[in-house]
Amino acid sequence: LYVDHPLGAGQSVPLTREQAHYLFGVMRLAVGDPVALFNGREGEWLTTVAEAGKRGGMLDCVEQSAPLMLPPDLWLLFAPIKKARTDFIVEKAVEMGAARILPVQTDFTNSERIRQDRLQAHAVEAAEQCGGTFVPEVADLSKLDRLLADWPEGRQLMFCDEAEAGAALTLAGAAPGPWAILIGPEGGFSEVERKRLSGLPFARAVSLGPRILRADTAAVAALTLWQVALGD
Ligand code: SAM
Repeated sequence: LYVDHPLGAGQSVPLTREQAHYLFGVMRLAVGDPVALFNGREGEWLTTVAEAGKRGGMLDCVEQSAPLMLPPDLWLLFAPIKKARTDFIVEKAVEMGAARILPVQTDFTNSERIRQDRLQAHAVEAAEQCGGTFVPEVADLSKLDRLLADWPEGRQLMFCDEAEAGAALTLAGAAPGPWAILIGPEGGFSEVERKRLSGLPFARAVSLGPRILRADTAAVAALTLWQVALGD
């Protein structure tokens, strides 16, 4: 269970109404029962139920049961698409081990704003379901231009573009280290963006095969390709 609270020896963790409902109403736990908690920062902690109520409760930390499992230093940049498909991209990015998720506004992106809090909640749920102890940050929407202008030194960029179809479907020879993947919107990248991206020393254009993939499929394919070539 995810909690937004410090975990550690001697810590007591208060429960929200929803958490109490889930643990005591749905899971039927009682005082003394064990519960595994994580907060995305301090690994997984074994706790026991100290107080159980309808509207709240308290868990006491016993010991750390798993260390914090950091994913590789991989960011996913993607242009948000329809709501359900954007949710899907965030969920799959967490499962596939992205460390940071950055929605970006490109020339052909339709959305002007995103519900960052909702997407962050999806990231928490995905981390819970895949047994991760780390929750990637979902950043607020930012302009691709601005991100590229301020690009962190040493981070390589895998720029996925269907216009590269025919180019090698490979990251062979790519150096390990901090990376980012970029997936475009439904309308693809503009020619101005393509020109800009292909001129950047840290960017590498990558094809995901001869067929045009939907952006959500492309995100999963690109994360998989990266994990096979450079993941651990
Ligand atoms: N411009 C395209 C069109 O409407 O014909 C569609 C773009 S595609 C739906 C969305 C994004 O997925 C692209 O910007 C790209 O990042 C990625 N993508 C899809 N197919 C790809 C492929 N075969 N190789 C590399 N990237 C791909």
